[in-house]
Amino acid sequence: MSPVRDGWQGVGERIVAAARAAGRESHTVRLLAVSKTFPPQAIRDVYALGQRAFGENYVQEALPKMDALADLPGLEWHLIGPLQSNKARLAAERFHWVHTVDRLRIAERLSAARAGGGPPLNVCVQVNISGEPTKSGVPPQDAVALARGVSVLPHLRLRGFMGIAEPSGDAGRQRAQFRTLARCLEASRAAGMSLDTLSMGMSDDLESAIAEGATLVRVGTAIFGPRPARPATVRQAEP
Ligand SMILES: *Cc1c(COP(=O)(O)O)cnc(C)c1O
Repeated sequence: MSPVRDGWQGVGERIVAAARAAGRESHTVRLLAVSKTFPPQAIRDVYALGQRAFGENYVQEALPKMDALADLPGLEWHLIGPLQSNKARLAAERFHWVHTVDRLRIAERLSAARAGGGPPLNVCVQVNISGEPTKSGVPPQDAVALARGVSVLPHLRLRGFMGIAEPSGDAGRQRAQFRTLARCLEASRAAGMSLDTLSMGMSDDLESAIAEGATLVRVGTAIFGPRPARPATVRQAEP
């Protein structure tokens, strides 16, 4: 018996129910399984159920897992944690998606690092939708301008926007924040960019995100269970 089966299936059912409630087709919402802190075997278990897209927060943590899972065809790796300039090359070489582009400089580095070949790197512009000063992402009013700059870089494919709602347990607040991200997508489309991705919603708020148009939800805890605390040494190795 797979220890993650109930979690993964339960999340699938939540996505179907939330899409139905929003009058959407459930296949328009992709599930990204967030495997940070969990070992390669946990990823194998979810892969065996049919999951292919996995999210990691730290380049340095992800690379050994990618190596350990190199025998699995069709794995798709998404970087969803803050990206430092000095990790941009590795991120561009090893990931299929980067959700956390929050400045033009890092996008330029990613594009340059991808110039060696292969398909363009899929990226999202991260927007600070909660307004908390400590949170990453550009302010919503700057999102379209950054998207325009990113969209012309030769080795990137801008897909859309990513946001993290403030943990509140209040569906009204969550939806208002996710609506801010949806408006960024609408404004970019009105400005002529053909984008298809709203990366928003996690274990605690995926229903609110789907109600506001999420096309990709990033879910860890509800699939894999609670995360162990990160060892201090790992945290320091990647400031
Ligand atoms: C950890 C993380 C997730 C998953 O969070 P859960 O609450 O465990 O589902 C999603 N997105 C980002 C950016 C994360 O860092």
